[in-house]
Amino acid sequence: MKFVVVVFDGLRPDQLAEKVTPNLCAFAKLGLVLGDHTASFPSETRVSSAALATGSHAGRHGIVANKFFANGAAIDGASLPALLSLGSRQGGVMTSVAIGEVLAKHGKTMLAIGSQSQGSWGLSNWGNWQTGGPAYWVHDAQRFGSNPIIRGIASRFPELPTAEQPALQTIKRVVDGFLSYVTSEVVPELTLLWLSEPDISYHMFGLVHPSARHVLSKVDQEFGRILDWWEGTRRSDRVQLIAASDHGHAIIGKNVCVADYLGKAGFKVADTLEAGADVVVKPQRAVNLWVRDQDLGLLGEIHDCLSAAPWYGVGFSRTMAGEIPRIVGTLPHSAVMFEHARSPDLSFVLGDCAATDPDCNPEAVFYDGSYPLGVGMHGGLTSYELSALGIFAGDWFRQGTLTTPTGIVDLAPTILTGLGLPIPVTVQGRLIEEALLSCEGMPSDHVEDVSVSVSNSVRSAKVRRDSYGGHLYLKGTDYQWFRSLGNGDQSTVHTR
Ligand SMILES: [Zn+2]
Repeated sequence: MKFVVVVFDGLRPDQLAEKVTPNLCAFAKLGLVLGDHTASFPSETRVSSAALATGSHAGRHGIVANKFFANGAAIDGASLPALLSLGSRQGGVMTSVAIGEVLAKHGKTMLAIGSQSQGSWGLSNWGNWQTGGPAYWVHDAQRFGSNPIIRGIASRFPELPTAEQPALQTIKRVVDGFLSYVTSEVVPELTLLWLSEPDISYHMFGLVHPSARHVLSKVDQEFGRILDWWEGTRRSDRVQLIAASDHGHAIIGKNVCVADYLGKAGFKVADTLEAGADVVVKPQRAVNLWVRDQDLGLLGEIHDCLSAAPWYGVGFSRTMAGEIPRIVGTLPHSAVMFEHARSPDLSFVLGDCAATDPDCNPEAVFYDGSYPLGVGMHGGLTSYELSALGIFAGDWFRQGTLTTPTGIVDLAPTILTGLGLPIPVTVQGRLIEEALLSCEGMPSDHVEDVSVSVSNSVRSAKVRRDSYGGHLYLKGTDYQWFRSLGNGDQSTVHTR
């Protein structure tokens, strides 16, 4: 048995439509749709790459954000050299075993072709590209591909435009590279193709803009080429084809600047914690803060200041004995599987705009970063950001729609089981047994609501969580406001 996994970066499953994505819709009909499939936290691409590669969450694999702060320095996970430098100082880039490492150890081949950021690509096939596996980062195969077959394939193509947006030629190159490889070589045990669209165009236009729809239709056409190949080879090679995404998208409704807010409140915000700075802020949809000497008094003051703001959603801090959060008024990092030596002292997700303006788009969220209003964004805990695509097809899987909770961390253990390879002890996901044809009709486990809430004088925040077979799935957030902050009516319960 073999697996081909196609990741559509940022594709929210409710964006599939017959007129825009006919190939994906046809594929969904002949395969098995994971109907309750979710991302990991934070729902950022490099974190998700590590989660897909290792079958574990940030608290175990250690890539705690796209950009984070470790050993007193900023780490930009888009840079593979930056990740390698971190790993050399901290005994490993990721602290979970990746599927590429398992395949390499057992003499199996992993083909990995991607157009996402260099760091995300490196994480997604960790252990493969370092050991001479057929790995191709389409922006620079010579620099990151040590495999002679891949170098030969890459040399046939003209150079891609730099930072192409939308990335139409770039995603086509991923599929061209794949089809070139399987035309001349044996189909590898595992292929991972990562298309950087529709994420790039969602960040440019939002989800429903005609330009974003156009790009999604082009993405679907590229998938159609893979589907055509699969129809011809699926039986002879027992190829299981998986269409997946790493996270979904919400919409930027309002911009905020957390560093400015804290600066105006009198805190000294800086890029490092040297020279008397109070706090380093790494913002996005999830805002991460590292505080001088991890001082509990200072952390409490900063959290009190932040949690009074209308854009504050729900906060997380270090997990103490008894699953108690270090900072009063937050949840422990462990509540969202985020407790790691590299985790920030305080993290919070920015809230929903509907919490302060009930008339606005329910998908609209607060955001701290450089993207403009109205475009797509992810990283937080809304159901829109957590919603991920998962469609399985092949003779190992049954058809239809699964209603049981599944997550992106479940893909690695499911694939490893199909390949007959051992599952590393660091894996937190599960074999999606109910997806298998051989298990059709087997009774489902009970889905338990294990949501957690935290309140302060302004609001109550709930992180919705499901437990299935002892595995935790993050489903979204709900906020209830106790009093108005003078910016609209926050007295009603906001539920999604
Ligand atoms: Zn992504």
